[in-house]
Amino acid sequence: FFFFFFFFFPTFLPSQFSRTLPLTGIPLAATVAFSLSDLSRCSHSLTLDLAAMATSAFGTTTATSNYRNGGAANARNLPKNSSVKSKTGVRKSAPGSLGGGGAASSSSKDDAGVPGRVRVAVRLRPRNAEEMVADADFADCVELQPELKRLKLRKNNWDSDTYEFDEVLTEFASQKRVYEVVAKPVVESVLDGYNGTVMAYGQTGTGKTYTVGQLGDEDMAARGIMVRAMEDILAGVSLESDSISVSYMQLYMETIQDLLDPTNDNISIVEDHKTGDVSLPGATQVEIRDHHSFLEILKLGEDHRFAANTKLNTESSRSHAILMAKLVVVDLAGSERIHKSGSEGHTLEEAKSINLSLSALGKCINALAENSPHIPVRDSKLTRLLRDSFGGTARTSLVITVGPSPRHRGETASTIMFGQRAMKVENMLKLKEEFDYKSLSRRLDIQLDKLIAEHERQQKIFEDEIERLTAEAERQLSDAERNYVQALEKERSKYQKEYLESIKKLEEKWTMNQRKSVNDENKLRHKDVGSNVLPNAKESKVAPIEENPEMKKLLEKETAHRKAVEEEVWTLKTQLAESRRSEALQSSEIVKLRKMLDDEAHQKEKLEMEIGKLQSHLLQLSVEADETRRQLDSGGSEEVLSGLDSLLHQSRQPQSDNSETGDKESVAKLFEQVGLHKILSLLEAEDADVRIHAVKVVANLAAEEANQEKIVEAGGLTSLLKLLISSEDETIHRVAAGAIANLAMSETNQELIMAQGGVRLLSNTASSAEDPQTLRMVAGAIANLCGNDKLQMKLRGEGGIKALLGMVRCRHPDVLSQVARGIANFAKCESRASAQGVKAGRSLLIEDGALPWIVQNANNEAASVRRHIELALCHLAQHEANARDMINGGAVWEMVRISRDCPREDIRSLAHRTLTSSHSFQAEMRRLG
Ligand code: ADP
Ligand code: MG
Repeated sequence: FFFFFFFFFPTFLPSQFSRTLPLTGIPLAATVAFSLSDLSRCSHSLTLDLAAMATSAFGTTTATSNYRNGGAANARNLPKNSSVKSKTGVRKSAPGSLGGGGAASSSSKDDAGVPGRVRVAVRLRPRNAEEMVADADFADCVELQPELKRLKLRKNNWDSDTYEFDEVLTEFASQKRVYEVVAKPVVESVLDGYNGTVMAYGQTGTGKTYTVGQLGDEDMAARGIMVRAMEDILAGVSLESDSISVSYMQLYMETIQDLLDPTNDNISIVEDHKTGDVSLPGATQVEIRDHHSFLEILKLGEDHRFAANTKLNTESSRSHAILMAKLVVVDLAGSERIHKSGSEGHTLEEAKSINLSLSALGKCINALAENSPHIPVRDSKLTRLLRDSFGGTARTSLVITVGPSPRHRGETASTIMFGQRAMKVENMLKLKEEFDYKSLSRRLDIQLDKLIAEHERQQKIFEDEIERLTAEAERQLSDAERNYVQALEKERSKYQKEYLESIKKLEEKWTMNQRKSVNDENKLRHKDVGSNVLPNAKESKVAPIEENPEMKKLLEKETAHRKAVEEEVWTLKTQLAESRRSEALQSSEIVKLRKMLDDEAHQKEKLEMEIGKLQSHLLQLSVEADETRRQLDSGGSEEVLSGLDSLLHQSRQPQSDNSETGDKESVAKLFEQVGLHKILSLLEAEDADVRIHAVKVVANLAAEEANQEKIVEAGGLTSLLKLLISSEDETIHRVAAGAIANLAMSETNQELIMAQGGVRLLSNTASSAEDPQTLRMVAGAIANLCGNDKLQMKLRGEGGIKALLGMVRCRHPDVLSQVARGIANFAKCESRASAQGVKAGRSLLIEDGALPWIVQNANNEAASVRRHIELALCHLAQHEANARDMINGGAVWEMVRISRDCPREDIRSLAHRTLTSSHSFQAEMRRLG
């Protein structure tokens, strides 16, 4: 229950409804309820309650698949002779893209599908015979872009609002396709044991019953959702083990009547206090064996339906049809407002009770949307009946139906908003993205935090790296030192050892020599006794060494050795020097690294200062914002920015709900409180965001005719024109040009714009703009000026036509359509002037070279472009002075085509008349045969 209501916004009491097409007759609602027990067990039963609920002049068709949980519910619904058996069904939450159970609060537009969102499709009804005639001269009020899943709702000639839906079904969509995209997934999950809801909502006559309830006995292809759903259900169950029972009821003026037994006219709703299950034990149930028996039941019910025709649509009923088989299908009454619908016969009382059920539905949706603890389910039978289906476990699909007629634009807008709310989508969230100092400050804070964290991270990485490098360098240095010391020590001890050994050897040799020489001396003494010469000891000792060659050799060897050692020492010394040098190098590396560290620290300091500055800027911003607020507070009672916000917000969606008048009043109130002068003064604010904000508010105000005079009086037009030169911002250009376009609807303002050089300003904006929407606004403004008889010459003189033609470089159809409209306006004024004899000679459009583009686009695929050009051609062709150029430029072929194929009768005959009355054209056509 809850999730179902959750997504609906109570806009079904729209503020406007066509005064020209009153409703008569009696509304009728049919409720068909199936109850399908657990199919995975062996013996199953399926209960189908068909309840037609006729309420009053409101028409909404809802189909809800409802898994009637448990045997208790089934047992209660059993007719005396029914074969339905009691089952223990277990409720499951539906997965997938349709509304699924408890996850109702999540919302996602993904096709992948998140449980909990109501899937909303919009379906456009083709023009009916009456509209073909009555609306022949008007474009449809909606334009569908099915491939983009978008719907454009026209606001005026140059502006429209765009909405996204899950599915966009054009007037050509077949019933089969509608069933497949809207209901089939729901039926499939019903067969899997989930609850499901399919609901149609829309103005009477837009095709709710056609979509949901069409039987299609004459044309199989026209079968609606109920019939197709039953076919799939029958195909999906085995009647050997399952049974399907049907009841068919109607809710009308808060009374439930049995359509299978008209005498049973006040069925009561019974609630199980323990489980909260709702059932209708008094309703007749008939068991379904095959599709044929189902159709019989539906027809029997139809025969009993309390329906009355309306002038709006002779087949339309004001009933709700609900089909239940774990599936509830509800056909609600029309969404238009009763007191304007001109309902006949069924009076105020009926109106009230329809209002009761539908407003109760709305209140529940509201309460659920606001997470209110109290959901006023008990306020009406409709909400009580649908409660089972909205138990938070159903998959839900909503199809909203709209008609094409521009006369019902208000109603269509309200239906679209209902659908949008039902989707609870991002495009509502987008609207909240208004300028807000607090959130800006929050965003900046977060950014700041991120920057600081990132800086700290980098710093840490850097410091770690330095540490690592330093450690590495120190390690290398100490390794080198240690190696050096070790090597030196090794060398030294080696040489010492060798030296000592040599000394020892020398000493030994010396001792040996000594001994030998003593012996020799003794021998000599014994030989030469007579000799006087007594050689002293020294002489006798040295001389033998000097003369001893062996000794000499030893000494030489020793010297060589010494030399080698010295060399070795020298090498070591150079090695030492080398290692000193590399040590110095390393320490210079360290110095460098230190310096880098210092730099980094310096950088950090600077960044911190920057951050400080940013913070103080932020602070100043909020102080300024507060200041502005205070200043404005002292002038009015609202804060200007929040005032602007609400103005912007509210003026953006003036038709968004049923309290339109209320909204307008509050806009007007806020407008008064904030003060137009204050808003206009903000157009020159220093802060670009404030400027954008202000220009948006002014543009939204300028969209309301009632405000336009005030805005111009207060100098708003001048300020807007100034913005076109003073600002470089494309958003400002776009919004300002849009506002100027809106103001340029009145003749007085057109003159003012011209007098202030507006055409040049707009032309300049056009030549520098790239955004198609900016160009569209500029072209729209110029197009409006083109429709002023008095301004033709001046407009052309200031380059207005050239500017329009320049904009066709952007091939966007929205832009082209505005250009075409401007050209058509201009041609029309010229044609008038020529007819009055005020103007002679060739068209200025032709002079300015517009003809080739006109001819090229006369058959443009966009109807909005084509229509204007066709008119322009007809106007140009009125005057012989243009005939030669038109013939040479190939326009005759286009005129012939228009006179034959143009869907607009008036243009077609105008083209025909023109061709037949012009001598030049006649001659040319004869020439061409
Ligand atoms: P509602 O139930 O919303 O009041 P209906 O379903 O009774 O509207 O439709 C009104 C009329 O328009 C019916 O004659 C119906 O056949 C016709 N109609 C509605 N939708 C379509 C459609 N998509 N294609 C053709 N005819 C349609
Ligand atoms: Mg209907």
